[in-house]
Amino acid sequence: MPEGLIVKALSGYYYVKPDAAAPGETIQCRGRGIFKKKGLSPLVGDRVVYAPTENGEGTVDQILPRETELIRPPVANAKLAVLLFSLKEPDLNLQLLDKFLVHIEHAGLKTLICLTKEDLLEEADDGSTRDLTLKVQEMYRQIGYEVLITSSRTGLGTEEVKSRLAGEISVFSGQSGVGKSSLLNAMLPGLTLETSEISMKLGRGRHTTRHVELIELENGGYVADTPGFSQLDFLELGIEELSSCFREFHDYAEACKFRGCSHLHEPGCKVREAAAEGVIAPSRYEHYVQFHEEMKDKKRRY
Ligand code: GDP
Ligand code: ZN
Repeated sequence: MPEGLIVKALSGYYYVKPDAAAPGETIQCRGRGIFKKKGLSPLVGDRVVYAPTENGEGTVDQILPRETELIRPPVANAKLAVLLFSLKEPDLNLQLLDKFLVHIEHAGLKTLICLTKEDLLEEADDGSTRDLTLKVQEMYRQIGYEVLITSSRTGLGTEEVKSRLAGEISVFSGQSGVGKSSLLNAMLPGLTLETSEISMKLGRGRHTTRHVELIELENGGYVADTPGFSQLDFLELGIEELSSCFREFHDYAEACKFRGCSHLHEPGCKVREAAAEGVIAPSRYEHYVQFHEEMKDKKRRY
């Protein structure tokens, strides 16, 4: 039986792109009742076995095992989160960036950080922000994240971003207005996602999560047309899982004196020591402490 990829789900239909089909070619399929009984429903991004029916449509018969599963937007098998943060308009916010990173780590996706709107620094001839940008880039690279500096205006970095998307399913993340739609448009001539200037933002309004669709790139990559990780409330994360989402803490955490060390005030905490020495970036440790507080507060309230 043939296999394919669900690239769109709409009004009870799944649009399956058969393996080896030309770009844009899909078969409209119904899901089978058995999925409902099992409490399982096919998701965009699922690899499926389908059966063609006589009218040129088909039915989804089997969902192949998922590697990842996101809830918002509901996408299966996404491997990469492209995290966009603008250098200006709005200014870079590292606390928010770290918060996104926690959620992406928790979901088990790889990350590509894009620092966007570089042309605005050129324009303002803003040397101090440029120095800061390079420092931030270096800091996150040291942690092990790939960081690109981009501009959808000048095209800086867009080809590089595109090449990172080859052959995988990706989601774009980042607060509204950082340039997600613009970057996708810059990478994909012919695509015209509305930017927030035209009032409808990706993931807002009528673009509800039920209508998620994968945009196909010519290099075999797919990008979800709805941003990922727009809800950053820590409700799905256990407080004891937080430190594992700061990947540069791992080696130090293993050497902490106490098992289950929270890295807040225990004696012999190697994470805190490393942050004090600057081996772990102090801003990262600070944000860890702030998120920990925030999670504790939430637990009290719910
Ligand atoms: P989104 O909400 O993340 O999808 O952001 P948009 O792509 O809608 O962009 C928000 C605003 O920033 C729009 O006014 C864009 O024209 C502007 N913008 C996006 N990318 C760039 C860029 O690289 N340089 C400059 N100068 N402006 C940009
Ligand atoms: Zn510790």
